[in-house]
Amino acid sequence: MADDCLFCKIVAGEIPATKVYEDADTLAFADLNPQAPTHVLLVPKRHFADILELSADPDASAAVLRGIRGTADAAGLSEFRTAFNTGAQAGQTVFHVHAHVLGGRRMQWPPG
Ligand code: 5GP
Ligand code: ZN
Repeated sequence: MADDCLFCKIVAGEIPATKVYEDADTLAFADLNPQAPTHVLLVPKRHFADILELSADPDASAAVLRGIRGTADAAGLSEFRTAFNTGAQAGQTVFHVHAHVLGGRRMQWPPG
């Protein structure tokens, strides 16, 4: 667990969150400030800052993709958007890698 990492604390159960999906390697919980009718964050339980770090670990990378599938199934979504913000300029505010899984409405493209 990384010091002072919000999502490590959610994984550890130290900060409450509304769980949507969990498996051995990942946890998904509802975003506090949803941008769509369904807006879930899927995180690996191990700390990686972003997808650049995550991509160096093939097993953890695959686990995140499986977790996204599990999250979509658990949320009843067959069509959804998945986004990973990487770096502050791209909108990343929590530096524990997370997939935004958004659905339940038509998504605009490009996102802006
Ligand atoms: P980022 O901007 O890093 O891509 O996404 C961080 C996300 O975490 C945001 O969508 C924000 O609403 C969400 N968030 C921030 N703090 C909390 C929290 O304490 N609990 C939950 N469930 N979501 C949070
Ligand atoms: Zn963390």
